[in-house]
Amino acid sequence: MNETEITTVKDLLARPKKIAIIPHRSPDGDAMGSTLALYHFLLKLNHIPIIISPNDFPNFLAWMPGADKVLVYENDKVNCTKILNEAELVFTLDFNALHRTGELEHVLNKLTVPFIMIDHHQKPDNFALVTYSNTAFGSTCEMIYNFISYLDETSRIDKNIGTCIYTGIMTDSGSFRFPSTTSSTHRVVANLIDLGIENSEIHNQIFDSNSYNRLQLLGRALQNMKVLPQHKTSYIALSQKELDEFHYQKGDTEGVVNYGLTIKGIHFAAIFIEHREENIIKISFRSQGSFDVNQFSREHFQGGGHINAAGGKSYDTLSNTIKKFEKIIATTEIE
Ligand code: 5GP
Ligand code: MN
Repeated sequence: MNETEITTVKDLLARPKKIAIIPHRSPDGDAMGSTLALYHFLLKLNHIPIIISPNDFPNFLAWMPGADKVLVYENDKVNCTKILNEAELVFTLDFNALHRTGELEHVLNKLTVPFIMIDHHQKPDNFALVTYSNTAFGSTCEMIYNFISYLDETSRIDKNIGTCIYTGIMTDSGSFRFPSTTSSTHRVVANLIDLGIENSEIHNQIFDSNSYNRLQLLGRALQNMKVLPQHKTSYIALSQKELDEFHYQKGDTEGVVNYGLTIKGIHFAAIFIEHREENIIKISFRSQGSFDVNQFSREHFQGGGHINAAGGKSYDTLSNTIKKFEKIIATTEIE
């Protein structure tokens, strides 16, 4: 953020306000971590913050401090709309286009109060008074730490705020291994550990809370994996029938796409998941190296994200979606 933006934010936060904080639809560790960290921080500045998530968050994030205070728009549209209409300031975190909030977009579009966007995805839309957007960061949570520093309020960061920030940095960096993990990332984390956050316990909460069904579903996903070595590509498809077979819960397929990249010589991995109720195939793309999956997803699958991690969707059947994917791959150069 530049000096003008910092002054604008300081002015906006100078007196207590009703503040709405919005993560993207199907919030992940970084979306939940950043919104909750900001929530605890704004409480300390005597504001009245409230987090409104477009839809439910996965169970593996329910332990996070303040998660029980999060309102879910899909479950209580009337009340959430009322709160949003009364908000004096809106933060949008970990996304940069309002359509990423699903139906909530229509409510947000009508608001006239200032928005502050904090995000690390490519190509931000222009809806915020202050846009703190930087694709060099591996997580919005790391940006929240910097945001608080810009306001000269680092001393307010306590164990709760630190725990939330750590969660998002850890989940969005693949536990500190993705290329966006910098020495600054590790410095932030070091400061958080000095504040007393229980880093090892946080890792356990997120990654060691598997159900037997989830592991069985992972087994099926790995069995379903197709490898196209000549195109350095692998992909997994999961049908609704298979999800049902293993009593799929929200979050169960999180991270499964990454297994495709662990095969030697594979630089592009995809997963296609059928969600029959929503009539949609949800797609995740991951790459290693210079192949830009954000670009690929924008061009072919109505999505976006980052160079090495993006999401997309298809309204066709699972098998037609895969046929389309294979056809595109046949003529795509993957380095
Ligand atoms: P995931 O595959 O984990 O759902 O998403 C990977 C990355 O791409 C995340 O940073 C996510 O926020 C982003 N992403 C997922 N779906 C979409 C989409 O439809 N549009 C855009 N612009 N980004 C997406
Ligand atoms: Mn993120």
